[in-house]
Amino acid sequence: MSILICPVCGNYLNISGNSYICRKNHCFDIAKSGYVNLLLSNHIGKTVHGDNKLMVQARRAFLEKGYYSPLRDELCAMVGRNFSGGVILDAGCGEGYYTSAIYEYLHQADDTPEMYGIDISKIAVEMAAKRRREIVYSTASVFHIPVHDSSCDMAVTLFAPYCGEEFRRVLVPGGTLIMAIPSENHLWEMKQAIYDIPYKNQVKPYDLEGFRLAEKKRITYKTALLSREDIQSLFTMTPYYYRTAADQKERLKQFDLLETTMDFELLAYKNSK
Ligand SMILES: [Zn+2]
Repeated sequence: MSILICPVCGNYLNISGNSYICRKNHCFDIAKSGYVNLLLSNHIGKTVHGDNKLMVQARRAFLEKGYYSPLRDELCAMVGRNFSGGVILDAGCGEGYYTSAIYEYLHQADDTPEMYGIDISKIAVEMAAKRRREIVYSTASVFHIPVHDSSCDMAVTLFAPYCGEEFRRVLVPGGTLIMAIPSENHLWEMKQAIYDIPYKNQVKPYDLEGFRLAEKKRITYKTALLSREDIQSLFTMTPYYYRTAADQKERLKQFDLLETTMDFELLAYKNSK
């Protein structure tokens, strides 16, 4: 049975033909690409916006070139170490790069999960759904996750907004939350190229209310961004993009090759509920 719930009334959703329907007859059509829109307009915050088509396409092109594959591989290994069957939710799954990688990894290890991905961007979810039909994708906000209480054995959140209350609600007691955050030196050389006075990332304290940190892994490597396009794609994927003045953005356009540091931390927490 699906773990999805009706975003209107909270009852379980069941598949009926090409729709999900709850027992109060709220009905949500499954798109041709396979995802279902469970995002209610009042769940979209004023400042929250899904990525547009160009951004999603640029991100997919960038990720497919493998620049983040060391992170992806370590993520899969950490998921593997902490997963003992059941349901995984990728909250803020984007175009499904990591979601499908996790699924493949476990599938090949003969430990195929029941997998769900949500994202607020319809375009991203649509692209994700086309990758792998076995994964159930829906558009939804991470602040209103449309799955039942205590229905997920694991939740994964990568560079997405964090809502601890929702993660605690959807995870089983003792369930695992895996998170990726940028570490101190992430994109240091790129920042040096843009800003007069670049700053290192401040890594927040690891403590999360209601969770116990179980595992921590830092992934640091240097990579050469091989085209102007790739440099721009990576820059638009970062939160700095929105905070950078136009003249500083122009500086980056002069580069057609840039070697920069990738620096991440992967954290695994156990739900202490
Ligand atoms: Zn309903």
